[in-house]
Amino acid sequence: MADNYIESSFSTLKQTIPMMLKHKVSAVPTNYALWYTYVSNESPELTSAVDALLENKVPLSDIKSKELYRSYLAEQEEISAWELRQSVEAMLIQLSQSLQDTRKETTEFKKNMDNCVDDLAKVEREGLSIEEVMALVRNLVKETQNIRRSTISFNSALTDAHKEIDILRAKLEESQKEALYDALTGLCNRRYFDEELASLSIQSNLCLVLVDLDHFKRINDNYGHVMGDLVLKATAKKLQATCRDGAQAFRFGGEEFAVLVPNANFSKARVIAESMRKAIEKIGVKDKRSGEVLGDITASFGVAEFTKGMNPLTLIETADKQLYKAKRLGRNRVMPMS
Ligand code: GH3
Ligand code: MG
Ligand code: MG
Repeated sequence: MADNYIESSFSTLKQTIPMMLKHKVSAVPTNYALWYTYVSNESPELTSAVDALLENKVPLSDIKSKELYRSYLAEQEEISAWELRQSVEAMLIQLSQSLQDTRKETTEFKKNMDNCVDDLAKVEREGLSIEEVMALVRNLVKETQNIRRSTISFNSALTDAHKEIDILRAKLEESQKEALYDALTGLCNRRYFDEELASLSIQSNLCLVLVDLDHFKRINDNYGHVMGDLVLKATAKKLQATCRDGAQAFRFGGEEFAVLVPNANFSKARVIAESMRKAIEKIGVKDKRSGEVLGDITASFGVAEFTKGMNPLTLIETADKQLYKAKRLGRNRVMPMS
């Protein structure tokens, strides 16, 4: 990784926290993304919007921050989170590198490392605060510099330090969940799905259910996009409520959903799909303007079972073919039949 990239992310991160403190905004991930982008000046529109507010001394309330986030960053949510993770990872790699360059050890160092990780566990328990994570990273930098000056060999501590860094990285990844949810439905998003499928497909006994709402375009056309969105939300809720035994629902895209059913054979997955189909039939969404309740919502399902050695993409294609069959046979059904 280029040195100047590491340096610039370092300097952006360092400026972000004081800015957030100065303007008394809460340390939630969306605010962090907002101020990180502001400091890095990646979005001139966002910068001028924030500058205008600051100039007019408009207090940056939570709702205002949320609005700014939605207006200027929501679409780039994943990119920002990814970049944030990259920055922190870049720092960790750099730290790990400096440790490798060093040939000294102190028990103090190990103890401090342990403290850092204990603190991190605390941060995780009490909810993520970027400031605290940053304090930890700063501490790690300081400790690394200290150890450099020490004269005792530290080979075993180096191994421990690497382990601690791996744990830290894993925890940071965990903290990036924000970017893995779909904003409209609250379900896990496609990116999450892809990662989950890749890791689950290492084991067998996995099934995939693809769900596609029937004639959804008509709902938008006849009742408007807002109602369409409400139907998507209601569908997500039903799918989630019907998930059991480790099954997980995702928004696959548009009016399509996916359900990963681990530790299940085809017939078990089919039973889950069938109960989801029935649950969707029961949806009723009220049109606030007319008072009319929109019902008759249905979806088609394609089920596929993962077989050993199968490419995850083939699993998706197989389920998709079955979904297409369900549509062709008249919709509102689960395919294959058995
Ligand atoms: P079929 O039964 O064959 O699946 O027909 P369909 O109308 O459901 O399928 P089609 O692919 O023709 O249309 C899907 C529509 O879903 C088109 C698109 O505008 C709408 N859509 C996709 N995402 C959203 C969204 O987030 N909100 C709303 N309201 N509509 C969406
Ligand atoms: Mg579709
Ligand atoms: Mg559809």
